[in-house]
Amino acid sequence: MIFVSACLLGHRTKYDGDSNPDNLLIRYNERGHFIAACPECSGQLPIPRPPVELQGGDGEAVLAGNAAARNADDKDFTRYFVHGARQILNTIQAYNIQVAILKENSPSCGVHQIYDGSFTRTKKQGTGVCTALLQRHGVKVYSEKDITPELLDRLLAEDEPEN
Ligand code: SF4
Repeated sequence: MIFVSACLLGHRTKYDGDSNPDNLLIRYNERGHFIAACPECSGQLPIPRPPVELQGGDGEAVLAGNAAARNADDKDFTRYFVHGARQILNTIQAYNIQVAILKENSPSCGVHQIYDGSFTRTKKQGTGVCTALLQRHGVKVYSEKDITPELLDRLLAEDEPEN
């Protein structure tokens, strides 16, 4: 199986109640290799919820206790983000999943970039909290921006049927 951010498959799990549908991933979803969930919903955050950005560092820094997930009113949501990431890791380990495709720029799911914590739509290099935790445990994480039909064909061919 391959883990995919739920919003990329059209689930309305975004903070504003919307989704981030990715047509290529939705098309490949019909082949039955994907398992989808939302780290923030798994962390028991509601839909809708206030937008949150990582301040003081990226997801790796959050896991190290050196950064925090806060909203624009400075309310700290870090524990929900870490809890949600752990829930996703539990799922991934239960299904022996080796590969994940996560939504770029998200404070949970960002792979190459996240927003910089200033709430000015400015991005910086770094991972989201869930991405950092999965990478720590050896999961290969791609962003939807890395994905091509050729890469998906290879990942699905490598995916063990018994998984
Ligand atoms: S936490 Fe990840 S899966 Fe959930 S809405 Fe945000 S980007 Fe999508």
